Amino acid sequence: MVINYMKNIGRRAKGLYTAYNSVIEEVLVQNMHRIYYLSIIAVIMRLIDILLIKFGSSANESPETWETGVVLSHLILLGFMLVMFMITAGSRRKPMTKITMYILLYISVAAIMMTGIVITVFDQLITSNITPFILSCVVVGIVFLIRLAISVLIFLFSYLAYYTLIGIYINDADILLSNRVNGITAVALGLFTSLILWHYNYINIVQKRRIEKQNLQLEQLAYYDSLTDLPNRRMFDKLVEHEFSMMRKEGYESVLVLMDIDDFKTVNDTYGHLAGDDVLRQFAKLLRENLRETDIVARFGGEEFIILMPSTNIEEGYVFTVNLRKRIMEAEFAVESKEIKLTSSFGMCKLTKGKNEKHYFCSADKALYRAKQMGKNRVVVCDKVE
Ligand code: GH3
Ligand code: MG
Ligand code: MG
Repeated sequence: MVINYMKNIGRRAKGLYTAYNSVIEEVLVQNMHRIYYLSIIAVIMRLIDILLIKFGSSANESPETWETGVVLSHLILLGFMLVMFMITAGSRRKPMTKITMYILLYISVAAIMMTGIVITVFDQLITSNITPFILSCVVVGIVFLIRLAISVLIFLFSYLAYYTLIGIYINDADILLSNRVNGITAVALGLFTSLILWHYNYINIVQKRRIEKQNLQLEQLAYYDSLTDLPNRRMFDKLVEHEFSMMRKEGYESVLVLMDIDDFKTVNDTYGHLAGDDVLRQFAKLLRENLRETDIVARFGGEEFIILMPSTNIEEGYVFTVNLRKRIMEAEFAVESKEIKLTSSFGMCKLTKGKNEKHYFCSADKALYRAKQMGKNRVVVCDKVE
C-alpha cells in the first residue's frame, strides 16, 4: 500500500518534471524567435546610433575616448546582432538543440548587458546619466523569457559589473554614489519585468497545453467509439464527405461495405453483456488487422461496422470482402475460457456521387438486409450474391 503510494508520487513527480521540461523547451524556442526580431531592430538602431554619433558629435568638444569607446561598443553589438540574426534565421528551417538555444540565449543577454554597461561607462566622460544601462536592463527584462533564479543571478552579476566599472571615468564621489543608487532602480525594474513576464508566459503555456489536451480528449470522445477505439459514425460521415471530394478531384471509384455480426444477441444471452463487449473489441481488432492501410473501418452502431475502400473498384472490393468474410469465419474469439466462432453478413456497393451523398450507406444497407434474408454469412453486392 505504502509502496504503491510512493510509486504514485514518483510517477506524478516524473510527469510534472517532463511537463516542466517541455514547457522550458517551448520557452527556449520563443526566446529564439525573440532574438531574431530583436536582432533586426538592434541592427537598425545600432546603425542609426553610430551614424548620429559619428556625424552629430561636436568634433572639438566631445572627448575622443568617448566617441571611440561608444562607437566601438555599438559596432561590436552590431556585429554580434548580425550573427544572431543569421543563426536564428537559419534555425527557422532547422530546429536547434536545447544546448545551442541556451548558449545563444545567455550570450545575447550577456552581450546586451555588457554593451549597456560599457557605453554607460564611456558616457560618464560627457554626462552623468546612465540611460544605456537602464535601457539594457529593460530590454533584457522585456525581451527574454528567463526563469526566476537565473534572472536574479543575471541582474545581480550585471549590477556588480556596473557597480565596479561605473567609477572608471567619474571623479565626483556624489555623482558616483547617485549613479550606483540609480543603477539599483534600473536593475530592480529589469528584474521585476522579467519575473512578471516569465510567470505569465509560463502560466499561458501550461494553460494552452491543458486546453490542447482537453480538445484532444473531446475529439476522441466525439469522433471515436470508446469500446473499440474505432472511428464512430460521426467521424465516418466526415471521412466519406472528404472521400466524395477526392473522388470528384481524382476521378476514381470507391467501395462501401456495411457488415453486421450474425446472431450476436446469442453471444450476449449466453455469456453476458460484458463478455459481448469483449468480443466486439476483439472483432474490431481483427477488422483493423485485416484491412489494407488505405481502408477505413468504423463502428456504425451496435454490432454493425462499415468499411470504406478508397480508390477501389467493385470487383476488387468484392474479392477483398469475400476474403474478409472467410477470415472472420476462421477466427476464434476468446470468451471466458472458451473460444467461440462468429460469422458476418456483408452488403456492399459503389460509393455513388450525386444528390444522395448524405445517405451514402442506403444501398449497402439494402444489400446487407438481403444478405440476412438469404441466410446470413454472405456478401451481397447490389444484385451479386456469393
Ligand atoms: P442478426 O444476425 O439478425 O444480426 O442477429 P443479431 O442477434 O446479431 O441482431 P439483433 O439486432 O437482434 O441484435 C444485436 C445485438 O447486438 C443485440 C445487442 O444487445 C447487441 N449489441 C449491440 N451493441 C452492443 C454492445 O455495445 N455491447 C454488447 N455486448 N452487445 C451489443
Ligand atoms: Mg447482428
Ligand atoms: Mg445489427
